[in-house]
Amino acid sequence: MFKNSKVRVRFAPSPTGFLHIGSLRTVLLDYLFSKKEKGDFILRIEDTDQERFTEGAIESLLKTLKTFKIKFDEGPFYQSKRLDIYNKHAEQLLKEEKAYYCFCTKERLEKMREEQIANKQAPMYDQHCRNLDKKTIEENLKNKAPYTIRMKVPAGETIKFHDLLHGEIEFKTDLIDDQILIKSDGFPTYHFAVVIDDHLMKISHAMRGEEWISSTPKHLLLYKYLNWKPPIFIHLSLMLNKNGGKLSKRKGDVAVESFLENGYLPEALINFIGLTILSVKDKEKEILSLNDLIKMFNWNKVHKNPAILDIDKLDWINSQYIKQIPIKELTKLCLPYLPKDSDLNEKTIEKIIKLEQPRMNKLSDIGESSDFFFKELDYNKDLLTWPPALRGQRPGEKDAPKEKTLESLNKTYSILCDVKDGSFGAEKLKQILMPEAEKFINSEGKIDRGQLLWPMRVALSGKEKSPGPFEIAEILGKTETLKRIQKAINRLK
Ligand code: GLU
Repeated sequence: MFKNSKVRVRFAPSPTGFLHIGSLRTVLLDYLFSKKEKGDFILRIEDTDQERFTEGAIESLLKTLKTFKIKFDEGPFYQSKRLDIYNKHAEQLLKEEKAYYCFCTKERLEKMREEQIANKQAPMYDQHCRNLDKKTIEENLKNKAPYTIRMKVPAGETIKFHDLLHGEIEFKTDLIDDQILIKSDGFPTYHFAVVIDDHLMKISHAMRGEEWISSTPKHLLLYKYLNWKPPIFIHLSLMLNKNGGKLSKRKGDVAVESFLENGYLPEALINFIGLTILSVKDKEKEILSLNDLIKMFNWNKVHKNPAILDIDKLDWINSQYIKQIPIKELTKLCLPYLPKDSDLNEKTIEKIIKLEQPRMNKLSDIGESSDFFFKELDYNKDLLTWPPALRGQRPGEKDAPKEKTLESLNKTYSILCDVKDGSFGAEKLKQILMPEAEKFINSEGKIDRGQLLWPMRVALSGKEKSPGPFEIAEILGKTETLKRIQKAINRLK
């Protein structure tokens, strides 16, 4: 498709301190396309906004990108180290009268803006300095008056371009501001630096979020002024929340780093984001590796509609990956989410992880779902009764009387007392206790195992939902199991 020149794409993040989940889509799209076309992938750090500088932001960004095993062929290049290049090109535009010095003060610009808003006009620079005479300019420069350099945007023209995903797009220049190219601190704006760098770095395809679409005409004017051929533009649709609304602004909800901290695996995140980029016909085959995604990449498959940050779907994908991890490895991954001061040995912890593995959506789930193995239980004694008094919605069955629950727990206790320490395994316990459970009959005359299994399980876990009682008992061991059942009995008395 793109045989004339080598495919070269770039990911050009501004270091804000975290990687937005939407930006992960852009990186992945860049990566999939460049690998598919055997092209180059370049990392460029757009760090020209001194006001937004945060310590450690670049290091953290590079670390996050590394987690995903997405490799760059060139870079990172830092725009802050290329100021001479931008200034040289700004001078050229000044000389050719395609740009001009602007000496307007912040106060003047602010006042102008307020007036425009009050008059219900779109705020735009009023071109006050566009036609200053040479003498004034020279004097101002001599007096070291602070200045910016702005581009001249022609009036009354229409700028058209073709976006690979969205087709023909046009903008009227009358709506485009005389964009600042060089700020008063000598740093370029994003709009200027992106054009210079995309050209000098021989970028063939510029991919970025849809929020930049209205900036593209400015960039195209600059390409024209500099006599350069623009890249092919691709604006990736936005990501929305499940209700179709804008994503939350809270960093914790949208930072890739937060997803990783919560125990979403990098492979699962890539898989999920990959599915928001490419449409997959076969719903059965939604578990896809980075290599699968590269292989299936095709522009015809790239979604044009907004992507949805569907956490339930992400949970499902992540759970599929978790199920595949060998227990030893999964235990290691889960350790940060477990109590640090536990005296349970490694083997026991592995057993806990194995028990929870089928129900985990993300690694951090393990903290809450397995906490009962690590601490004294604290639960409402009503939870012990079957059917639980609080729910009490089984037909024909009112609250199971306290006496019945006590009888059940006492029975379990005395049976377990007789089990030898060495045979206290889930299978064995099941063999012994199941026939006893079958002896419980409900008010409709039907066998009701729950009357034995439920109180036992709650006595051991303190939870409404947990793995089965035999598996928990095996992990707790005989002494602790009996202790917990005794405590449950005491609670009911
Ligand atoms: N620095 C811009 C951003 O962080 C890059 C936009 C582009 O790729 O042109 O979104």
